[in-house]
Amino acid sequence: MGRVSIVKTEPDLKQALHRALEFIGGIGSFIGSEDSVLLKPNLNDFDCITNPGLVEALITYLFDNNIKKLMIAESTFGNHHITEKHFRHSGYYDICKKYDIPLVNLNKSGSIEMKVPNPLIFNTIHLAKEVREVTKIINIPVMKVHYATGVTLGLKNLKGFLTPDEKKHFHAAGLDKGIVDLGNTIPVDLTLIDGINCMERMGPKGGDVFYLGLLLAGRNIGETDYIASKIMGYDLHEVKHLSYFMTVNKVDVNNIQVCGEKCENVIRRFLKVKTDMIIPKNIRIYNHNACSACMNALLLSFRFFKEEFVNDADIYIGSEQAEIKESPGIKVAFGNCCTIPGAHVTIKGCPPYPLLLVEKLK
Ligand code: SF4
Repeated sequence: MGRVSIVKTEPDLKQALHRALEFIGGIGSFIGSEDSVLLKPNLNDFDCITNPGLVEALITYLFDNNIKKLMIAESTFGNHHITEKHFRHSGYYDICKKYDIPLVNLNKSGSIEMKVPNPLIFNTIHLAKEVREVTKIINIPVMKVHYATGVTLGLKNLKGFLTPDEKKHFHAAGLDKGIVDLGNTIPVDLTLIDGINCMERMGPKGGDVFYLGLLLAGRNIGETDYIASKIMGYDLHEVKHLSYFMTVNKVDVNNIQVCGEKCENVIRRFLKVKTDMIIPKNIRIYNHNACSACMNALLLSFRFFKEEFVNDADIYIGSEQAEIKESPGIKVAFGNCCTIPGAHVTIKGCPPYPLLLVEKLK
C-alpha cells in the first residue's frame, strides 16, 4: 500500500515539510548525503508558481539532513530567454544565489534519448540531460486546473523536462498518453505538491489564485496526484492522463494510505475550466499543434470580448500547415509560428498578449 501525506502549511512551512516527509518514512529512507538531487518546480507562469518559500524550506531541510548536492531545473513555454525571465521574476534566481545552487535552464540544456517502459505512444522520449546526471529527482508542482488536462500536478509538471522539439511532438501526438509515457520514463523519487496558493476557473495561466495552505507528499507520483485531484474535486475519469497512468501501472486507488489530514476534511472543489463557456459561439478554432501557452493565451483573449464587437471568425493557431476552411468569417492567424495564406488578421507574439486579439477584431 502506497502512502500519501497531507499537512497544513500553517504556521511553519519547514515544520510542515518535516511532518509531511516523516509520514512517508522520512527523507533519510530514500535520499542520502551521497545523492545529487534535482528539484523541479513549476515556474511556467507569473501569477501562480511553486512557492519560493516552500523551495527555500526544502533546500534548508535537505542541507540539515546533509543532502547538499542540489540543483533547481525548469523550462517554460517559448525559448530559453523566456525561461530566464521567469527565473528572475519568480525569485528563484536569488534563492539559488543565496544557497549557491545551480539554476538550470532546461530550454538550453543538452538532450538525451530515453527508452519508455510499457509505452502508450512513444517508444523513446528526448529529455534534458540533467535527468540522467542526477541520482534523485524531487518534483514540486503547484495545484492548478488546466484547460486541456483537467488538472496540472506531478505528472504534467514533468513536461518541463522535454526538449523544445519534443514538447511540440507531445501536442501533435496526444498530450494525455504522452504524459503517461513521460511519467513512466522519468524516475521521480518524491512528489511534493504545493497546495499553498492554487489556481482555479482557468489554468495553467490567467485563472483565479486563492490560498489553500496544504502540502502533499508521496513517493508514487500517480498516487500523490490522485489524492491531490480528489482534494480539488475531480473524479479520476475527468483527468485522462492520470486515469491512463493508474491503469498502465495497475495502481489501486483504494489501496492508498492517506496520512496527516483526512482527505474528506480538506476537500476544496476547484472551479473547473469550461472551454465551451469561454469560446464565443461565432468563433471557430483550428488548432494545428499549438503549444499549451498559445492555446491558453487564446482562451484568455476571450475574457476581454464584449458581445457587441465579436465578429464571426476562424482562428488558426499552431505551426503546422493548416487546411483553410471555406467560410465567410474573418481568418485570423494567432501566434508567430502560424502562417496561413490569406489571413485577414495576424496576431503576433509567442504566445501573443491576450488583449491583442480583441483589439484587432474590434
Ligand atoms: S507562437 Fe504559440 S504555438 Fe507558436 S511556438 Fe509560440 S507559443 Fe508555441
